Amino acid sequence: MDKDTSIHDLTPRRKLAFEFDEEKEEELLGNGGSERLINERHSIISEEKIPKIGMEFDDEEAAYTFYNEYAKVVGFSIRKHALRRDNKGTIIDRIFCCPCQGHRQKDKRDVHVKSHRPETRNGCLAMMRIDGRCTGKYKVVSFVASHNGHDLVSPTKTHFLRSHRSITAALASQADDLDSS
Ligand SMILES: [Zn+2]
Repeated sequence: MDKDTSIHDLTPRRKLAFEFDEEKEEELLGNGGSERLINERHSIISEEKIPKIGMEFDDEEAAYTFYNEYAKVVGFSIRKHALRRDNKGTIIDRIFCCPCQGHRQKDKRDVHVKSHRPETRNGCLAMMRIDGRCTGKYKVVSFVASHNGHDLVSPTKTHFLRSHRSITAALASQADDLDSS
């Protein structure tokens, strides 16, 4: 695979950063239950790394990073979902969820859609929700640990998942911002 990369390697390959390998992600996530696995993986994480209601973060980004690190150990990828802002534009409420959350809308695999994604959404409810209204900090107000409809990825393979790829994590996060605002 690397045999003819010598020339191309001289050219910056920035575009690659946007090309998430979603088929790979789908293959990794697979299908099947994961409750047993969740418990198993929780048992190897220290308590303070597992989200809990009432946990506080200085800002939304810190909450994202925390949940993403948790997800990396447990074996899934995260994305930013719904958000609400106050009239000054400050985020007051944000949900981070599993990429398997929700269902694809019908006809989204239209040929005119440039980068259509394989169906990886299957209604998974895993999420962490933060609220910044009360104390100026962002507090975890709900957390769903279990994933439904898909397996977890082995922690040794989570670096293949979108939110854990070091080059793409920031971009993934930005893309989600655009998606959900
Ligand atoms: Zn999930």
